Amino acid sequence: MNQENLIFTAHCGIYCGDCIHYKNKHSKLASDLKRELERVGFDKYADIKSPFGEDLRYYKEFISVLNSLANHYCNDPCRTGNGCSSTTCKIIKCCQSKKIIGCWECRQIDSCEKFEFLEPRCGNMPKNNLKKIKKFGLDNWIEYRDQFYIWL
Ligand code: SF4
Ligand code: SF4
Repeated sequence: MNQENLIFTAHCGIYCGDCIHYKNKHSKLASDLKRELERVGFDKYADIKSPFGEDLRYYKEFISVLNSLANHYCNDPCRTGNGCSSTTCKIIKCCQSKKIIGCWECRQIDSCEKFEFLEPRCGNMPKNNLKKIKKFGLDNWIEYRDQFYIWL
């Protein structure tokens, strides 16, 4: 078995190399921007009511989003990092309890409801990928994978 394919193939059928978190550029850019804004004390500037900068009234919310972008960098595929952002999800736990390396070895894929939390952004991609893994095998499925997000 191709070990790299296995490392990048999550239990749920996601190909981690396509994930927006994985080794992204925007987290570092967000960290750099945050540091620069702190350096110049931009929060103080934004806090003062003035005819200049009325459009900065949502600055605190902006910083909250900036923190989120800076913190969602992921350096490890799910399989080696123990889940998305190191959180072991119910799909991994289910596979572990069945002693299988991924859901493609399970016969309940179609009826399984544990994938619902992935659907808002990924649609049916994980389950479609699982079917490709079943069909082409772990060594050959990657070129047939679905697009990661519903908007791509
Ligand atoms: S943590 Fe769960 S949902 Fe996320 S990629 Fe891994 S198996 Fe899939
Ligand atoms: S029931 Fe099957 S398809 Fe559903 S999470 Fe468990 S192993 Fe995966």
